[in-house]
Amino acid sequence: MAAAETVSPDPVVSVVETPTPEPTKETTLENLMEKLRAKAGQCRSWPEMSKSLRVAITEKRHLMNSGDRTQLQKVLDTLQKSIKVTSLQSMVERLESISRQVQGVRFSNNCPSPELYIYNDMFYVEIILEPTGAVKDVKINHQADPTVIVTCPELVKVLKAGNFSEFTKHVEGLASIYQLNAEKMQKSQAFLALQALETDLGMLAQLKSSITEPRNLVHNSPVGILQKRRGGYSLKLTYFISPYDLLDAETKTSIPLTAETVIEKGLGQSVTVCIESSTAHKLQTTSLITVTKTTDGRRKDIVNRTDEADIRAIDSGLKNPWRWDWLEKSVNGVYVREVIRKLRSCGVAYCLVCSKELIYGSRGFSALAKHMESRKHADAVEARQKNVPLPGAGGYNSDISYGLHPMFKGCLTASENSFFTAIGATC
Ligand SMILES: [Zn+2]
Repeated sequence: MAAAETVSPDPVVSVVETPTPEPTKETTLENLMEKLRAKAGQCRSWPEMSKSLRVAITEKRHLMNSGDRTQLQKVLDTLQKSIKVTSLQSMVERLESISRQVQGVRFSNNCPSPELYIYNDMFYVEIILEPTGAVKDVKINHQADPTVIVTCPELVKVLKAGNFSEFTKHVEGLASIYQLNAEKMQKSQAFLALQALETDLGMLAQLKSSITEPRNLVHNSPVGILQKRRGGYSLKLTYFISPYDLLDAETKTSIPLTAETVIEKGLGQSVTVCIESSTAHKLQTTSLITVTKTTDGRRKDIVNRTDEADIRAIDSGLKNPWRWDWLEKSVNGVYVREVIRKLRSCGVAYCLVCSKELIYGSRGFSALAKHMESRKHADAVEARQKNVPLPGAGGYNSDISYGLHPMFKGCLTASENSFFTAIGATC
């Protein structure tokens, strides 16, 4: 210490030069920090504190009132947020803490099994952890459909990234699907209705999937930009984007309009599709849209006589159910079988020439005859005769003996041959 003394400044000078320290903001802070540092040695680590709090809460012999308990729980949850999740234990604790913060969900951990559940009576999120605490898989099951347990890549990603606030939002979203003042049965039905509506909206979006230009996709397609429900986030339709939405005020640049940026930045006006309590309504519980054409435009739902499809079952309850012998009648010299097909829907047939569905359930054959005699149909036949049929325009060149009893297969009439030659079909 002798060396130190030799270089120390003259004590007299230092007293003169240093003004008496006034309690400025900095020194107060410094003092406080100093006190904290002094305390730090005595402090236990976060996980330790969290553990002792947990013990305090669950301890039966301390008779705490519920207020204290809630307060302690809040402190514990705040502590949880500050602990970096690095182990299985801390992961489990954090997930449990999250499930406490979301109203109406519970937590189940059958240690030592690697699966954890966050659930209520309508759904569960199953989280499968590695022994290290890393996330292996996250599955969601809606109990309206117990056979479908789907891995949710969105939630796996969120948890792997340690983004617990995002995960909380997902769990909140899942719980909110069922926040209805209703019986379990009705809640299941409500979820089915939601699913069915989502399917139909998805179908509508797909039917217009040829629209790829983003501006048209948003403003001129039936559902705008559709984002499917993922995890706890509802299905979202972005239906309007104003030019102002495409200005980035910070960088003073314009944002290019693409479906990706709209989704990523949440641009424009949108709606989400979810369920809320209301008075009784009739809702769909299955999809209402059926896509009846194959990609090349042919109908998928034409019933052939040889399919042995039960026509009586398809047309049950009709005043005039389908009869195959209608096809053997002719209207204006054309056999009905040349242009009409029976569809797999109750009381519906199809005109190949006009690509039009015909309803015959009440008037039977006369409905078909009336169509074949109509001006529109005649015009369509004429147009067909002038033009080579477009590929997939109807698909009636392959089975011109449609509806014939199998016994008569192969017996074509002169009229049939001439008709198909006239409209450019190959027999
Ligand atoms: Zn027609």
